[in-house]
Amino acid sequence: MTKRVAVIGAGPSGLAQLRAFQSAAQKGAEIPEVVCFEKQSNWGGLWNYTWRTGVDENGEPVHGSMYRYLWSNGPKEGLEFADYSFEEHFGKQIASYPPRAVLFDYIEGRVIKADVRKWIRFSSVIRWVEYDAEKGDFEVTVHDMVEDRVYKERFDNVIIASGHFSSPNVPEYEGFAQFNGRIVHAHDFRDAREFEGKDVLLMGSSYSAEDIGSQCWKYGANSVTTCYRSAPMGFKWPDNWEEKPALQKVEGKTAYFADGSSKDVDAIILCTGYKHYFPFLPDDLRLKTKNRLATADLYKGVVYTHNPKLFYLGMQDQWFTFNMFDAQAWYVRDIILGRIEVPTDKAVLEADVVERVEREDADDDVKYAIKYQADYVKELVADTDYPSFDIDGACEAFFEWKKHKAKDIMDFRNNSYRSVITGTMAPVHHTPWKDALDDSMEAYLQN
Ligand code: FAD
Ligand code: NAP
Ligand code: MG
Repeated sequence: MTKRVAVIGAGPSGLAQLRAFQSAAQKGAEIPEVVCFEKQSNWGGLWNYTWRTGVDENGEPVHGSMYRYLWSNGPKEGLEFADYSFEEHFGKQIASYPPRAVLFDYIEGRVIKADVRKWIRFSSVIRWVEYDAEKGDFEVTVHDMVEDRVYKERFDNVIIASGHFSSPNVPEYEGFAQFNGRIVHAHDFRDAREFEGKDVLLMGSSYSAEDIGSQCWKYGANSVTTCYRSAPMGFKWPDNWEEKPALQKVEGKTAYFADGSSKDVDAIILCTGYKHYFPFLPDDLRLKTKNRLATADLYKGVVYTHNPKLFYLGMQDQWFTFNMFDAQAWYVRDIILGRIEVPTDKAVLEADVVERVEREDADDDVKYAIKYQADYVKELVADTDYPSFDIDGACEAFFEWKKHKAKDIMDFRNNSYRSVITGTMAPVHHTPWKDALDDSMEAYLQN
């Protein structure tokens, strides 16, 4: 009987998995039946923009954490698919920091070409997954929202590609309950124009704080204040942007910080990160990990050590994204196709995890971290037929990106980099990022 494989999620990771299987089939391999379950009505994961917050049209938690006017925060040259270049998709080379809609179109282009949409059941929420030790397979419970029907099916393998930037980490601070303004987590932030003319406080010192703060600044906030728990971002901010140490409490509209200073603010945006959250998994299958480069309990970053028939994609913190998901998806595919063997001794799987954790912990330098993840991508790519590409070249783009951000945080998106897939240099975008208020694909692709 043909093997059956369930893929949970049709974001960039899940779609990479579908493309991986399709590519093997295209080359003549016999592949299992692949069924992808996606709770949204379209593919693209986080890149599939929704204006909704809270619950979706089915009463399910909204998956989307992206907002209007979001542009890639890293150069596209670091994430380009090795089997589908930007030039192939757009018919020309494009500038290096595309807005969300442009990246959505690119992600979609590859899987339209691969013709794998027919493998996806949309508006289908995975409710539960259980391993049957006797039969050696999984029972998956699905809620089909269109038919409003709950059903069960069995699969030989399950691949979790449900993302981990959707369930917000929401801390509480003294005075929040009485704050005279809006408090919102980054997950529910949608449009910076809401904060035009306002004094905004952002908590956190990572990508969301940096980028949502930049959006608010760009679209006319009166002032931006960010505050950090561990370390400041330390960029050269515009005049009306101030970085403060940890928030202590708020009283009325006044926020008090660890250095004794205070600031009156109209709104607080919690850029305090996300939690790995799998409400559809029992304890014996559920990944419990921090957001880091070396996740807990995943051999080679993808095989669940406690049950090697279960796989996870994209669960790492991410420097590399789309091409790393590809490397993982091709690797998982080859395990399922019997081309790559997973050691049967659990101790070997666990030792692999320990080694990755220790190597990550050996240094906290940013360049080290980028190279660390590059090495991981190289390691996986070497074992499959995913087209090898110049991963060191992609690292160079990241290193340049870091320098450009340090030089001018409101200008870094005006730089361009060389594609490591086609070798062509990206053009400089026609409008500086801070002046480009229209984030549509049409506006971006104009010459
Ligand atoms: P997701 O994109 O989260 O997709 C997971 C999919 O699983 C979703 O479609 C979801 O609906 C589905 N799903 C979840 N639960 C269930 C269920 N129970 N049943 C069925 N389906 C389910 N990366 C970059 O490279 N560049 C960027 O500029 C960038 N910007 C980002 C901005 C924000 C605000 C955030 C939060 C992330 C950003 N990222 C960026 C990183 C992002 O994680 C990846 O680009 C990518 O979206 C991860 O893909 P994924 O498929 O692993 O997860
Ligand atoms: P993150 O990188 O996990 O950072 C979380 C931040 O919240 C950290 O600064 C952390 O501080 C802080 N924090 C956590 N708990 C806190 C608490 N109780 N009190 C105060 N501070 C607290 O999460 P993120 O910034 O949301 O980024 C998530 C992902 O989204 C990344 O992959 C990023 O690239 C992506 N992203 C991309 C864009 C874009 O492309 N334009 C925009 C936004 C986000 P500590 O350092 O002290 O832990
Ligand atoms: Mg190879």
